[in-house]
Amino acid sequence: MDYTKINFDYNGTKKYYIDLKGEHICDCLYCVNFRKSFSKYYPETASFIESFGLNTDNDLEISEFGFYEELGSRMYIIEGAVIGNIIDDKIITEIEGLKIELINGSTGYSAPFTPKFNKPFFYIVVYNIYLPEERI
Ligand SMILES: [Zn+2]
Repeated sequence: MDYTKINFDYNGTKKYYIDLKGEHICDCLYCVNFRKSFSKYYPETASFIESFGLNTDNDLEISEFGFYEELGSRMYIIEGAVIGNIIDDKIITEIEGLKIELINGSTGYSAPFTPKFNKPFFYIVVYNIYLPEERI
């Protein structure tokens, strides 16, 4: 990952989510399952996301795409939003076999949520994350 192409406000992003005081946290079973297992199965990806000031337990938009019998896993796509911007609007990378995109909010990328940052921001999108169902 070429961090020279990314400007981001780690502390500003962290503070934004702390100030929400948990009102953005979904506690449905799919999201609970994601939070229980993501950093365990994808530790490098979780560290990468956290390096921008996001907490992977609380600050991601989690979308669930069904249970895959043959893999014994649920599929998820997640999105986080970070204060800052990407030179060239978009970066595509891969960590632990997961496709990851960083996309400027100003590109019109359609996410299921828009953060109220009042500053330029970019999304971090991680595709096709397969996670087993953990005992809750
Ligand atoms: Zn949920």
